[in-house]
Amino acid sequence: MTTLGNLINGTRVDDAVRTQDIFNPSTGEVAGQVSLAGKATVEAAIAAAEAAYPAWRDTPPAKRARVMYRFKALLEQHADEICGLVGQEHGKIVHDAKGELSRGIENVEYACGAPELLKGEHSKNTGPGIDSWSELQPLGVVAGITPFNFPAMVPLWMYPMAIACGNTFVLKPSERDPSSALFIAELAQEAGLPAGVLNVVNGDKEAVDTLLDDDRVKAVSFVGSTPIAEYIYSRASANGKRCQALGGAKNHAIVMPDADMDNVVSSLTGAAFGSSGERCMALSVAVAVGDAAADALVDKMQAQMATLKVGPHFDAENDFGPVITKAHQEKVCGYIDSAEAQGAEIVVDGRGVQVPGFENGFYVGGTLIDRVTPDMTCYLEEIFGPVLLVVRAGSMEEAMRLIDDHEYGNGTCIYTRDGEAARYFCDRIQVGMVGVNVPLPVPVSYHSFGGWKRSLFGDLSAYGPDAVRFYTKRKTVTQRWPSAGIREGAQFSFPS
Ligand code: NAD
Repeated sequence: MTTLGNLINGTRVDDAVRTQDIFNPSTGEVAGQVSLAGKATVEAAIAAAEAAYPAWRDTPPAKRARVMYRFKALLEQHADEICGLVGQEHGKIVHDAKGELSRGIENVEYACGAPELLKGEHSKNTGPGIDSWSELQPLGVVAGITPFNFPAMVPLWMYPMAIACGNTFVLKPSERDPSSALFIAELAQEAGLPAGVLNVVNGDKEAVDTLLDDDRVKAVSFVGSTPIAEYIYSRASANGKRCQALGGAKNHAIVMPDADMDNVVSSLTGAAFGSSGERCMALSVAVAVGDAAADALVDKMQAQMATLKVGPHFDAENDFGPVITKAHQEKVCGYIDSAEAQGAEIVVDGRGVQVPGFENGFYVGGTLIDRVTPDMTCYLEEIFGPVLLVVRAGSMEEAMRLIDDHEYGNGTCIYTRDGEAARYFCDRIQVGMVGVNVPLPVPVSYHSFGGWKRSLFGDLSAYGPDAVRFYTKRKTVTQRWPSAGIREGAQFSFPS
């Protein structure tokens, strides 16, 4: 059995003082172990990043971008191996892992544009003979801390752009499925990153706290659950670091009475149950406006869900795989129990689902719960499993109020045929990413990704234009040359 270590200064370093099991959620078996880096190991990674910084900062942006071009090619070349690692440790179905990787590669493509994106601004003659310009300089050593649910993609939201901007990086992936992030970082190195520019430390709270407290780390990008995001943001900010911390979600879809219900059902099925609902953009609440729409939605959804196939990640016939751990399986089922106890109607029950041959896998079947009310635990908290709640609202205003009152504001969507209703919704709703008849409004790589309210702590979103701002600091230079200097009166030959 392999023990996964760290990548520091271009070499694999093991720190096997403490280790943790990595599971294959499809079978429930232990797939390997990860060593959990202690303070000294993390400090060695920071030191490597700091040592690599001066030369990397001075490397022309076009040369940094050329590494990204090669990196993209290597990611495409090794896609099957990467998706295999993602599937084995995360449990997502192979086509879903491919989708994840391609979304990650798009961020590498965006980073290839660094020379264009870093051009800055220039003003001539801001005063007599005075010119001013603003340039975007890198920060130094930047850290990234990432969640389990997109083990290949979320690290690629961060370091390609950070590195293309001239920073050096220490990545701390999720300890639950760390192999793909380490493998991908080695590809980045093969693409031409000098040793120390990108380092990976595997670990838990001890590693994270070391990154948060070390003065050499200038900025922290975090993606994970809201309680940890809030902790990261508070501690990093208190230590004077720039921080962006993306948190959890409870994404609602409003289903208006005029919506095309077949379209709603087919797109909600993918958005609620794909990747076992373990997506921060998963649609976990459908708010039907009017009982007629709610009844139609529940009936059609129930019929559609009868065709859903849950099973191991390597069988492409399956619609979704297991959840990440046994503890998480129990937690998701606990939310279904609580919904039942609090008076909701369990229309389709995914508890106790059996996958023949994989009885020890961490499976939860697709679950549909109707007549959920806003005071129920299943509504208030993020479940992060294949569970779709249906809330019944009397009007669009009431539906929008529910969304605005929820602590999370990551993504949302409206299903309607009415352009004016959709426009009003987009304008007023207190959520960062909004879809109109689009269930997962995940921005493409040249826009930025970020929620509102307690789904994001900090001022700048992830990737896209906001990443350029996050990973650089602006310097504005005002320049004046009072005399003509060498142009007039200068001696170009030895005086005779
Ligand atoms: P998590 O918060 O448990 O872990 C995220 C990272 O934080 C991991 O690297 C982990 O090692 C570290 N961590 C965990 N506990 C810590 C502690 N006490 N101190 C310091 N570091 C700690 O999240 P997860 O379960 O891996 O991921 C799922 C969560 O991430 C969900 O809430 C999901 O909504 C969210 N998420 C959000 C986005 C987004 O863009 N908003 C994207 C993906 C996932």
